[in-house]
Amino acid sequence: MYSAGSLFQLLRDGRPRTRAELAAETGLARSTVTQRVDALLASNLIGPADKAASTGGRPPTRFAFNPNARYVLAADIGATHARLAITDLAAQVLAQSADDLLVAAGPETVLDWVDRTGHELIRQAGRDPADLLGVGIGLPGPVEHSTGRPVSPPIMPGWDGFDVQGYLQDRFGGVVALVDNDVNIMALGEHNVAWSDAPHMMFVKVATGIGSGLISDGRLHRGAQGAAGDMGHLQLPHGADIVCRCGNTGCLEAVASGAAIAAKLAARGMQASTSFDVVALARGGNIEALQLLRQAGRDIGEVLAAAVSLFNPSVIVIGGSLSQAGEHLIAGVREIVYRRSLPLATQDLRIVQSTTGDRAGIIGAAVMVIDHALAPAQVDYLMSATPAAMS
Ligand SMILES: [Zn+2]
Repeated sequence: MYSAGSLFQLLRDGRPRTRAELAAETGLARSTVTQRVDALLASNLIGPADKAASTGGRPPTRFAFNPNARYVLAADIGATHARLAITDLAAQVLAQSADDLLVAAGPETVLDWVDRTGHELIRQAGRDPADLLGVGIGLPGPVEHSTGRPVSPPIMPGWDGFDVQGYLQDRFGGVVALVDNDVNIMALGEHNVAWSDAPHMMFVKVATGIGSGLISDGRLHRGAQGAAGDMGHLQLPHGADIVCRCGNTGCLEAVASGAAIAAKLAARGMQASTSFDVVALARGGNIEALQLLRQAGRDIGEVLAAAVSLFNPSVIVIGGSLSQAGEHLIAGVREIVYRRSLPLATQDLRIVQSTTGDRAGIIGAAVMVIDHALAPAQVDYLMSATPAAMS
């Protein structure tokens, strides 16, 4: 049966509908639709839109999703940089802030920044703290999704097992707080903005490290422990002698990441220590940087060819800072994936650059909270639990 929360899902696409259209779409009686619509109007989650065309008499009112009913706080924490934004319920950024911040400074330092800057953004945007729907945060390491706790994150000393969820809930008035790794939220963000019609998508982040997020049947596929898509430590056959920071040898990340390319360029006497340096050299037309990027693309392609056979995505999005270096990286990926994978898996496969760029994580963190908090059962709960806030 269609509860108010289920009826609301139809309207989340933004298209205004009349009561009669909602009745036709759901098969509910007109009186039931009226009841549900009244409840949703009272919650402010929908509002009257334009008047529908009518064959005479008073035109019927259309109703549409009201993305400004509440707002979300979204955080994207990287190794050395943090971003924070307030978005509406359609994941549109309303206000944002960014800062150089070392994740290695530890959870209290980083989450205090989120607390302080988040409340500052809420004030700047002129929003009521009581209208905060939830907080979403992405972290640059493995996260156990069920508990929202980082699990032995290699570049995040002090974070192992830390209760990020509880800490943020405590600082933001008990709202829902969701935590995931940065690549998963980037996949969500990119999918929401550019590929919502592609149910099977793979997002690959190529930056200081390498990782991927999988969208399967339109949903994030996290796997049993939340470790799905962690492709940076798959072994390349020809990388056997290169030692990775994880302790193994020949990992994709040790061979083809921004850090790995920067090290190779530095060994040849060039000024390069980060993936941003690699991007700058490539944009300046440095031949060695371009050749190394092409080869990194091929190496990533080796691993992706296997992933294409196992997962059969219709689109692979290449994102992360190194993807901003131009076409050479993607050209290398395409070269190997199309050669190594079976024709059925690649006949409609697109391999493209990220369109959301450095906003992918912020948008994805917001989408994670919105999808959770506006699911049918949550909306029904929201409307039954807070009648005082409904006026
Ligand atoms: Zn490794």
